[in-house]
Amino acid sequence: LNLAKAEPVVKVGVDTTFPPFEMQEHGKVVGFDVDLVNAIAKAEGFKVEWHTMDFQGLIPALQTGTIQMAVAGMTITPQRAQVVYFSKPYYHSGQSILVKKDSPIKDLADLKGKTAATKLGTTADIMLSKMKDIKVERFTNIDDAYNQLQNGGAQAVVFDNPVNINYAKTHKNVHTVGKLLTGEDYGIAVSKQDPRLLEKVNAGLEKILQNGTYLKLYRKYFGDDN
Ligand code: GLN
Repeated sequence: LNLAKAEPVVKVGVDTTFPPFEMQEHGKVVGFDVDLVNAIAKAEGFKVEWHTMDFQGLIPALQTGTIQMAVAGMTITPQRAQVVYFSKPYYHSGQSILVKKDSPIKDLADLKGKTAATKLGTTADIMLSKMKDIKVERFTNIDDAYNQLQNGGAQAVVFDNPVNINYAKTHKNVHTVGKLLTGEDYGIAVSKQDPRLLEKVNAGLEKILQNGTYLKLYRKYFGDDN
């Protein structure tokens, strides 16, 4: 990527099944992360070209150079940080358990012998995979995990809390139970081939945190309640 160009075009990978951070609306990629990256790009003078892909395809695409940046509510983990750069954290999150309101399940221990649905390759998947007595069903699109809960194929969805909360807002028969299972920070991932792009992303993030843009976007997508 030639950042010396007047207005370099940065290819940004995005997983559009993570509402309200990223989703498709009328064929367009929209959401908190999308507005965030657009604001950073504007502050730092680069253009963004969006590339939609499955979550577990993002890191390989960064490694091969198909994309230079990825935004997907991606949790900063030591394993991932070995192969991609992460920006400074921009959102604090964690895993929660979503169940039907008439379910007896109240916490992780109650999931023993039960089936939990989640998204493939995510931190929820990694956590659940270590729990030998919970059966895990993995989907590339989180909507399929929620459908599995609705049709009784799974007794819970374990996934990032803001996404679970977002689903529960429009589906009144479900709710989250128990405490958050993890504490996680989201970061923007940048290819290790582009250390200067990482500097720009961090500089832009700092600017929009200072000038109120971040707060405006936060209120737009999460209100004051998250
Ligand atoms: N935060 C989770 C992770 O990084 C899920 C991200 C996603 O599904 N887009 O694994």
